[in-house]
Amino acid sequence: MEKQALLQHYFGYGEFRPGQEELVDGILAGRDVFGIMPTGGGKSICYQLPGLMLPGVTLVVSPLISLMHDQVMALKAAGIPGAYVNSSLTFPQLRAVYRNMLLGKYKIIYVAPERLQSDGFLEAVEQMNISMVAVDEAHCISQWGQDFRPSYLKIVEFIRLLPRRPVIAAFTATATQKVREDVKRILDLRSPVEVVTGFDRPNLWFEVRHPDMKDGELLRLLEARKRRSGIVYCATRKSVEQVCQLLTDRGYAATRYHAGLEERERMENQNAFLYDEKTVMVATNAFGMGIDKSNVNFVIHYNMPKSLEAYYQEAGRAGRDGSNADCILLYAPRDVQTARFFIENGSDNEDLTEEQKEVIKKQDYERLEAMVTYCKTRTCLRGWILEYFGQKHPEVCGNCGSCAKEYEKKDITKEAQMILSCVRRIRDHLGYYVGKPTVVRTLQGSREKKTIELGLNEVSTYGLMKTMSANAIKELISRLEDGGYLVTELEHQTLRLTEKASGVLYLGESVEVLVLKQEEKLQRLDDDGMTEDERELFDLLRECRSRLARANGVAPFMIFSNATLMDMARKHPTNMTAFKRVSGVGEMKASWYGKEFLKALKGAAK
Ligand code: ADP
Ligand code: ZN
Repeated sequence: MEKQALLQHYFGYGEFRPGQEELVDGILAGRDVFGIMPTGGGKSICYQLPGLMLPGVTLVVSPLISLMHDQVMALKAAGIPGAYVNSSLTFPQLRAVYRNMLLGKYKIIYVAPERLQSDGFLEAVEQMNISMVAVDEAHCISQWGQDFRPSYLKIVEFIRLLPRRPVIAAFTATATQKVREDVKRILDLRSPVEVVTGFDRPNLWFEVRHPDMKDGELLRLLEARKRRSGIVYCATRKSVEQVCQLLTDRGYAATRYHAGLEERERMENQNAFLYDEKTVMVATNAFGMGIDKSNVNFVIHYNMPKSLEAYYQEAGRAGRDGSNADCILLYAPRDVQTARFFIENGSDNEDLTEEQKEVIKKQDYERLEAMVTYCKTRTCLRGWILEYFGQKHPEVCGNCGSCAKEYEKKDITKEAQMILSCVRRIRDHLGYYVGKPTVVRTLQGSREKKTIELGLNEVSTYGLMKTMSANAIKELISRLEDGGYLVTELEHQTLRLTEKASGVLYLGESVEVLVLKQEEKLQRLDDDGMTEDERELFDLLRECRSRLARANGVAPFMIFSNATLMDMARKHPTNMTAFKRVSGVGEMKASWYGKEFLKALKGAAK
């Protein structure tokens, strides 16, 4: 099959993301490649896809053994035969893997760097045709990188032991020039095809808050994100414990992760999060490297991290599937003290000389300064990050806390008339007031059962705002409530007109409100452009996904990502052909899960 067909067949995607195709082509042409892409940019496909097309086997070196199992499960979920080799396997398991390797059962094998030179592995590999060695998180090979791992140096020795030099494909999300040079030099990449994609992640919202009370602020943020999955990063183990306790006390399905916990508990908690049994992970920066849970909807930093590199990497774990997600940092001056403490007491790495330690310390302070400036700047936050990574950017992004903070007066008379008269007409039609969701559905022209049964499609304002998203309409309603034109009656949750509304409806008075300058953009991004109906459908599909995940013993995001479910809700396929047109639905997944999802979709259409 051609690469394009394979992309559709196995991964269910119709198009490559920026940079992917170039890297795939490079590998297929037998060239070394070096892919520098942000987290969530889609690096895995860059080696998995050509790995399927090359004659032999692809080895993937990855630093985090705890995740290899999931990575291989994800491959299997797409119908790709793979395995992993690391210290978590028992001896008999290991033997079975080696046997299958020799039988040619795998196309892609994940391996921990420490294992590369073990006897059994070398023996097996000697008799195999290794087409490619893919090095994930390649910056680990550089001591200037964030996470230097001496074991990565073994990759080079290992490659020298092979009878034939395979293609070497290196990937990282680290941007700094020094680290890039190191990777190329140490891994001995030979005139590699080098692709640096932009570091911008347009689907991420960036914001810094300076709350007096972090706990209260955190609870408010989570309140607005119920049922969504996210990470709360804390600077110390102690604050992980405290914050996790706070959230658990408040009824959140929270779990925790830090280096002070036993390995077994760490794994359990990590899995509970990956499998959506717990929705909030409270963790130190020990958590997350290599985590490719694609449906993380928010990353909140309870403390400021030590560098923008660290921040962008951690925050970047949100929204990997391309759907909108929030990255919010809670800043307090004390965070600077904590960070300084870590720098002063940080480097006890015995591999480093005193001189090297001094250099690193100096760099750490420079990094910290940039981080603090980020927390205080009033300019565009996204711009600040991109600037730091040496990338050009527009002055204003329109999708971050700084860009949103400018207010302006806006005339919304026309919209106000539509909404107020809709509330009025519904009341006249039914004889009573209804809740906000019903008003929104009517304005949107929803074909949902309840709306039709109530005959609201006969009301003259039905469908009057059908080009607007539900959230945008809700936002307008909130403004009208602020302005005293509407009031929500608390007992019955109904939306009622006030005296003031009459002026607008009957006397032609105009309505002006204070809005954020970029508001419309924000709102549209906010709700992923889904209508109320689509959001309901999305929730239904999510339930279907959880059911299937439990039945199959895999994590929900391995079945389909949130982005895929959103596309499914939007396209609402009714047969298998249409189902396969949903982004992220490949042949295997369609055949395994298609029926169940189509059933769920059909049930919803009734
Ligand atoms: P990275 O390793 O660069 O952080 P991943 O390889 O985990 O990123 O990919 C992130 C997400 O993007 C995954 O959910 C993946 O399925 C999705 N993805 C990758 N390539 C494409 C594509 N061409 N079109 C749509 N989604 C893609
Ligand atoms: Zn901005």
